[in-house]
Amino acid sequence: MFRKILIANRGEIAVRIIRTCQEMQVKTIAIYTEVDSDSLHVKLADEAVKCVSRTGYLDMEWIIQKAVNMGAQAIHPGYGFLAENPLFAKKILEAGLVFIGPDAHTMALMGDKSKARETMASSGFPVVPGGTGIVMSTEEALPMARTLGYPVLIKAVAGGGGRGMRLVLEEDQLVLSLESASSEAKACFNNSDVYLEKYLEGCRHVEIQILADNYGEVVSLGERDCSIQRRHQKLIEESPSPALTPELRNRMSEVSCNAVKAVGYRGAGTLEFLLDKDLNFYFMEMNTRIQVEHTITELICGLDLIKEQIRIAAGEPLGYKQTDIRLTGWAMECRINAEDPVTFMPSPGKIEYFRPPGGFGVRVDSAAYSGYTVTPFYDSLISKLLVYGRTRAEVLARMQRALAEFSISGVKTTIPFHQRILADKDFQRGKFTTDFIQKKLDSEK
Ligand code: ADP
Repeated sequence: MFRKILIANRGEIAVRIIRTCQEMQVKTIAIYTEVDSDSLHVKLADEAVKCVSRTGYLDMEWIIQKAVNMGAQAIHPGYGFLAENPLFAKKILEAGLVFIGPDAHTMALMGDKSKARETMASSGFPVVPGGTGIVMSTEEALPMARTLGYPVLIKAVAGGGGRGMRLVLEEDQLVLSLESASSEAKACFNNSDVYLEKYLEGCRHVEIQILADNYGEVVSLGERDCSIQRRHQKLIEESPSPALTPELRNRMSEVSCNAVKAVGYRGAGTLEFLLDKDLNFYFMEMNTRIQVEHTITELICGLDLIKEQIRIAAGEPLGYKQTDIRLTGWAMECRINAEDPVTFMPSPGKIEYFRPPGGFGVRVDSAAYSGYTVTPFYDSLISKLLVYGRTRAEVLARMQRALAEFSISGVKTTIPFHQRILADKDFQRGKFTTDFIQKKLDSEK
């Protein structure tokens, strides 16, 4: 096992990783930028080192050099920043360290959304219908979109967090949307390549969590339903999905495990699918990293996914098989952002008072505390609020209780927004698709 790990991230996920390392008796190095000097990850890590370069958490050379100089054997990238950058993984290996994630080649293959689609399709897996390869010109896009039929979705090959994505309802919007998606992708990911997909209406977002070791063992830890989204960004996730039957879960798990085996993937990964009302599922993309919402899976399977990532990277076998995995109960997560609950405008500033809820079946993953200042320079997630129960009904009641108990002052938060969703009858019945929030907001105008 590693003796020391550098964590190339910040916020709640850095804290999350440090906590697991402490339990594993692995020392941690935190990195931070000037604005993050008072962050919790800096306080909790065994050592912390400040990055003064403008690129901060994206400064590959500096991060790797610090890891080497300070005696780390591995780097955990968390999510976001460099987590899905194959060059980072490659450079870490070249420096004689271990990247806690898949190898650079598989990451490059599955991390490029367009390539991943093609790889999956050519292996016979069901994928969202789309154009072939990246769109080279508007002349090429027009017939492609016509063949698919409107509405179509433009997506950035390097996209994430809903950026570089444009919904196109009619042909006369195509050219402008292509330009804006492409320039947003260039600005966000330094890669302007985009591709086309058929926009599937009235679907749920259902994803499968897998773990794969270096010895061919692959397990599925079931699904997460992430259909509650605003502008393609997840806000509430739950596991299991209210829409899945055990047979469908098994089929989606089998497809996911086979895909992962086919590409020789190693580590924790997620295959994202759209599920239509007839329960047909279509592969969208694979995330080759730990995801924000991995926590709900932990609650229903009882495994610490960060620990599993670290064990796999250190060369340990999983030590269990699919038949050993028991998924029990129900889990739900609300992402609480420092934003106005109506306009969703970021609300950075000092948190005067922070008192998270507690009690049976409640988990709070957060880097916030009373007196902490939320910076406008990074994402606005200040807390993940999770609840666990035996049934969905128990979870709904518990989440409502926990949201009401959560006390945060000084910044605005999305807690009131979550309370509105939790009180919605359709949400309570488990009847929702990815356009649920937009429709709800439109109907309340
Ligand atoms: P990102 O990586 O930017 O988050 P994803 O590919 O994961 O992008 O898609 C984000 C969300 O956008 C999905 O959860 C889904 O709600 C919506 N979406 C993506 N592709 C499609 C599609 N082809 N049809 C309908 N909705 C889609």
